[in-house]
Amino acid sequence: MNDSSSYSGDERIDEHIERERNPHREPAVRITGLMVQYYHVCRRELWFMSRGIDIDRSTPNIQRGTYTDERSYRDSRRSFSIDGRIALDVLDDGDVMEVKVSSTLEEPPRMQLLYYLWYLDRIHGVEKSGVLAFPRERDRETVELTEETAASVEETLGGIIDVVEAESPPPLEKKPYCDACLYQDICWL
Ligand code: SF4
Repeated sequence: MNDSSSYSGDERIDEHIERERNPHREPAVRITGLMVQYYHVCRRELWFMSRGIDIDRSTPNIQRGTYTDERSYRDSRRSFSIDGRIALDVLDDGDVMEVKVSSTLEEPPRMQLLYYLWYLDRIHGVEKSGVLAFPRERDRETVELTEETAASVEETLGGIIDVVEAESPPPLEKKPYCDACLYQDICWL
């Protein structure tokens, strides 16, 4: 796939792809895998993160699906960090793996994995398949980049740009996992 046209038809994404491919042109928003996950967990949290309001990310937070237990899966895999955007694990068979402890919040890790596949394909021309693994459920799911899933990634990227470029955070809205969020003091006190 060599052209820079997006699946979503969003001109901002065309521009984003072009800038990501050009080492001399930074995109307006540097979108990481974690930002994709946050967008699907809480857009307000994404806005706080984008403003450098940082918290201790090492705290295990299983309920919200942000904690990966590195010991809980025995597949042989190697870790790569690419362009400072994505940090991923590649299995021996070449598939990209994302491990999550719980499947209660399944959409955020799935979208993060799809973003990895999209980034590899659209920015570096490398086609990969993905595996989303839930060790506790002894379950795994194959994740593929298709026209449909690529369009949903690009829709997410457009949404992330909207959130990050907004002058104020999205309105407060109670979420089931607010009590487990380290921004709860900012939101609810
Ligand atoms: S406390 Fe709730 S609303 Fe506030 S950032 Fe966290 S998840 Fe979002």
